[in-house]
Amino acid sequence: ADTVDTTALLAWVREFARLIEEHRDLLTELDSAIGDADHGVNLHRGMSAVVAALAEDTPDRPAELFKRTGMTLVSTVGGASGPLYGTAFLRMSAAAGDAETLDGADVAKILRAALDGVVARGKAQAGDKTMYDALAPAVAGLEEAVGNGQPLSHALGIAVRAAEQGREATIPMVARKGRASYLGERSAGHPDPGATSVTLLVVAAAAALA
Ligand code: ADP
Ligand code: MG
Ligand code: MG
Repeated sequence: ADTVDTTALLAWVREFARLIEEHRDLLTELDSAIGDADHGVNLHRGMSAVVAALAEDTPDRPAELFKRTGMTLVSTVGGASGPLYGTAFLRMSAAAGDAETLDGADVAKILRAALDGVVARGKAQAGDKTMYDALAPAVAGLEEAVGNGQPLSHALGIAVRAAEQGREATIPMVARKGRASYLGERSAGHPDPGATSVTLLVVAAAAALA
């Protein structure tokens, strides 16, 4: 659809939770190579809590959906990724304002706000081998496609490919942020766990909002 409502955005968050559950062990394996082997477990715990919170009381605005998601992630995930994902969703909430529906430009705007939140919180730059390296190209691709008048479904397909390329590009990188940075050169040769999980967020958007 070219305009998405709270129900569609709720489907996005739920699809992200489903993909995190499906890829929990992969995410944890990736984090065992260059971190402390908890990324899949952390996000699965958080997104399960999000799904439960949203089932209890269905939000009636996009901003409320994202706010509850972000607050639940902050209070249940911990580690580096809890505050980062939490901030991302809280920034999406602020960017959604009091809108009841979002068009393609709005979806690009909220994901740009999410990326800005990740940067404000974690200070990552391009090439640091973090979730930034998948989310930033996805947001840029989405903005460009929406700006060129592409329908949201097509623009999200472009964003998915950009995120996947960004995730693959983290493999040779040497980590400069987070636990993986403690490994120095030995962090090279593995995909970044957070770049992998944030790619799932974009994949979920393409599946639920298209
Ligand atoms: P922890 O490292 O505390 O165990 P997780 O394993 O849940 O937390 O998350 C690790 C992921 O967090 C990394 O793969 C990376 O993508 C992301 N990350 C860590 N630090 C930063 C940062 N400063 N900025 C952006 N992303 C970061
Ligand atoms: Mg970890
Ligand atoms: Mg940890």
